[in-house]
Amino acid sequence: SPRVFSGVQPTGNLHLGNYLGAIRKFVALQESQDCIYCVVDLHAITAQLVHDDLKSQIRSITAAFLAAGIDPKRHIVFNQSRVSGHAELAWIFNCVARIGWMNRMTQFKEKAGKDRENASLGLLAYPSLMAADILLYRATHVPVGDDQKQHLELTRDIAIKFNNDFSGRIAAAGLGTEIAMGEETVNGYFPITEPLIGGEATRVMSLKDGSKKMSKSDPSDLSRINLTDDAEQIARKIKKAKTDPNALPSEPKGLEGRAEADNLVGIYAALADLSKADVLKDFGGRQFSEFKPVLAELAVEKLSPINAEMRRLIDDPAHIDAVLKDGGERAGAIAEKTMADVKEIIGFLQ
Ligand code: ATP
Ligand code: MG
Repeated sequence: SPRVFSGVQPTGNLHLGNYLGAIRKFVALQESQDCIYCVVDLHAITAQLVHDDLKSQIRSITAAFLAAGIDPKRHIVFNQSRVSGHAELAWIFNCVARIGWMNRMTQFKEKAGKDRENASLGLLAYPSLMAADILLYRATHVPVGDDQKQHLELTRDIAIKFNNDFSGRIAAAGLGTEIAMGEETVNGYFPITEPLIGGEATRVMSLKDGSKKMSKSDPSDLSRINLTDDAEQIARKIKKAKTDPNALPSEPKGLEGRAEADNLVGIYAALADLSKADVLKDFGGRQFSEFKPVLAELAVEKLSPINAEMRRLIDDPAHIDAVLKDGGERAGAIAEKTMADVKEIIGFLQ
């Protein structure tokens, strides 16, 4: 049966990209699906091992989930390290996945930088842990931003290889089910996960550089709009956002080769629930000096209720901790069943 899983790393300030590319979709999906949303703290130590205050980062991501409207009673919200199955299944997937698969990942190349030999082994194996996060719950759908597309393809490759390599043992253990794979169905244990990447803001770019995605870990705070920014900060950052000197085009075609303009129009479209074409029908021919204040006003209107609720929640850490504990227990129960099945399939004595 369908199940949604997604995660966000506690690596810094959540930004507009995380909201439009991921969290807003988490909220929409909970109306019709069974959802598990995870603060992926094990992932947070892959790029940087020592964090000043990981606990408050974890609480702050959780607060954002709740403030955006995720219901932790009907669904599951928890932090990854509470459920040992993530690390356990990741180990098994490290033995399923091939080194060559990991070496091709663009996120690894970007995050490792030039000194690749000195990146953590965890950063290289990141996609294997991500596959474990998803498949531990046998999730079928994963809402993410465009940057995670490649990792989701790898998750599918891991599920396919596991299902194939163990097909006889899966059948012998009576653990096989019909699994949808595109148009076809195959017999296997793990589902072939579908990414949910759609809309006008699947890849929000840095406000300072239209060729880089907006990121929590970007050292420049001016590069992103944080969910915790107040109205004045949002207006200032949009005002300072890099643009070209030309007026807005009247059709999306005119945004080609204008990465910064394209980004701001895309943000407006996503916030207003319009297409870029609709936005340009209204703003084509106008200068950025006119467009930016309207965009800032719209961003403030959409983000300030979340911002206010996040602040309120962060003042009540006991409540947040209770949500994570309860979610961890419910996630743990599902995970335990999967791990018992996987151990049976592999042939470990338990
Ligand atoms: P980091 O720089 O530490 O990797 P991040 O900003 O990329 O942080 P993640 O926790 O890695 O955030 O990703 C959480 C979710 O937000 C993922 O689904 C990811 O695809 C999505 N996301 C991240 N950045 C953007 C962006 N600029 N536009 C749209 N979606 C994004
Ligand atoms: Mg990221």
